[in-house]
Amino acid sequence: MASPSEQTTCETMNSEKYADINWDELGFNPIPTDYMFVIKCSKGENFLQGNLTRFGNIELSPSAAILNNGQGILEGLKAYRREDNRITLFRPEQNAMRMKMGAERMCMPSPSTEQFVDAVKQTVLANKRWVPPPGKGSLYVRPLLMGSGSAMGVVPAPEYTFLIYTFPVGNYFKGDTAMNVIVEEKLCRAIPGGPGGVKTITNYAPVLQAVTQAKTKGFSDVLFLDAKTGKNIEELSSCNIFIVKGNVISTPATLGTILPGVTRKSIIEVALDFGYQVEERVIPVEDLMDADEVFCTGTAVVVNAVGSITYQGKRVEYKTGVESVAQKLYATLTGIQTGRIDDKMGWTVQVD
Ligand SMILES: *Cc1c(COP(=O)(O)O)cnc(C)c1O
Repeated sequence: MASPSEQTTCETMNSEKYADINWDELGFNPIPTDYMFVIKCSKGENFLQGNLTRFGNIELSPSAAILNNGQGILEGLKAYRREDNRITLFRPEQNAMRMKMGAERMCMPSPSTEQFVDAVKQTVLANKRWVPPPGKGSLYVRPLLMGSGSAMGVVPAPEYTFLIYTFPVGNYFKGDTAMNVIVEEKLCRAIPGGPGGVKTITNYAPVLQAVTQAKTKGFSDVLFLDAKTGKNIEELSSCNIFIVKGNVISTPATLGTILPGVTRKSIIEVALDFGYQVEERVIPVEDLMDADEVFCTGTAVVVNAVGSITYQGKRVEYKTGVESVAQKLYATLTGIQTGRIDDKMGWTVQVD
């Protein structure tokens, strides 16, 4: 009987196959797991050797840049347990590259792709008993890059922290989860020249009001329009959007105001492989009105069908369910992620 004391080592944690939780009741709550990965570096330097430490609270100066300037970036990816007990990640180098691009925009040093992927692997392995059994979900991995040094005014922090923590999450798509979306006509998510294409920690708080108002009216999420003209669709609060019309699947082009989702990119490739015509373009909001299907993509949901969209008081409904394109793409992508389908794209990365 190992008591959860300081004595508990990585090895003893891993010898116990599963954490003692109900795997059938996973949601998207940050359940504390065993370890987190932490590495620091000074401004103008590179991240060197990081460490796994027990998961827990972190200490920051009240004048830390992350708290005062919002100098921070988040990432999100998942680890899956396969039937043969191997654990794999899905395209982790894509998250590493996105963090690096975002870090440049926000004047922060970032870990190299290799360091990022290695740190994710170490963190997942240390929390292996929290990776759900096959079919029950995945281990969500949340890397954070933040200005942890003290910074007042418009200056970059003198010190940075790269931290990774994890928690087990369930599967979202349960058949009857088609979203009802309302087009947001007043508030904007991103502006040309702004950081809308960066996964900054300031992406979500500014959209809370729109999302909360939509939820009180019974909608699941909002669809933002471009800030400049208010005529073209961009994305939901935390997901990219696709529309299906016949054999053509379209998604707004990522021209700086749209977050370049890893799921978005992967769905485009899967759809092309199926023989669909895929268009990345400017999509006028009118195109929603005669689409056959609409769906959204993101690491958390993978692919989620949109059942209806309401714009200027008019509600349009879309095809959802087992025969839908969204369902087919969802089944294929999750099949590749979990190892049920052969990964001919070479997207999955084994952690152990
Ligand atoms: C993270 C995120 C997405 C989805 O990106 P994935 O890499 O597919 O998870 C889409 N939009 C916003 C605003 C996001 O923050």
